[in-house]
Amino acid sequence: MTPKRILLVEDEESIRNTLRYNLAKEGFAVSEARTGTQALSEARRVRPDLVVLDLMLPELSGLEVCRILRQETSVPILILTAKDSEVDKVVGLQIGADDYVTKPFSLREILARITALLRRVELSTGSNNHPPPSDEVEVLGDFRLDRAARTVHVGDHELHLAPKEFDLLSFLLANAGRVQPRENIIQRVWGSNFFGERKTVDVHVRWLREKFEQFERMPFRITTVFGVGYRLDRLDHAVEARRQGAG
Ligand code: CA
Repeated sequence: MTPKRILLVEDEESIRNTLRYNLAKEGFAVSEARTGTQALSEARRVRPDLVVLDLMLPELSGLEVCRILRQETSVPILILTAKDSEVDKVVGLQIGADDYVTKPFSLREILARITALLRRVELSTGSNNHPPPSDEVEVLGDFRLDRAARTVHVGDHELHLAPKEFDLLSFLLANAGRVQPRENIIQRVWGSNFFGERKTVDVHVRWLREKFEQFERMPFRITTVFGVGYRLDRLDHAVEARRQGAG
């Protein structure tokens, strides 16, 4: 297996050296950059699997680097911040970072974040091979979701869903039986530039569950996969999902 390549962007030599040493020890191929402009050129050259990005950099700030990278690639970006006020910036400006750690951090913590981010990407790449079909109808027993009309029926009853509830349900249905990490759901339902709270997904799943509660026999349920995300499970295996073209 080719080692995962990490681009390490940090101007403080001691931190950079420690991280480089330990990441290499963990089996990663490490590239380095000391300034914002170097970071961009290295990212374009080596096409890393993940970027560890310090915020306070010479020439071009980490925020700028993150914003530009986000326009060019979906590479996961782990931000290093020196203080809590910077965390607010990362979150508030919606710059598209995937996660952050606050200095001082332990090696164990940053390695855990890196591993988690890379794992999420692997999981979501798997699902990218199955893009959600569009313009079609999902029928499961009494349940019917029409993507073209954006309607949901259970029997004769039309269920009114908010736009994101509909998109979320449609996405989970298209990927039934496959775990969807929260990050992947956010990217696919809310868009890649959405750096919202992961809780957003939880809240929408809760709303969906509440709306389905009134029906005694739903042909599926949304299962929480602890520490990862959600999976839509079909409950009646005798009922086969029939997919029909809507046009
Ligand atoms: Ca710095």
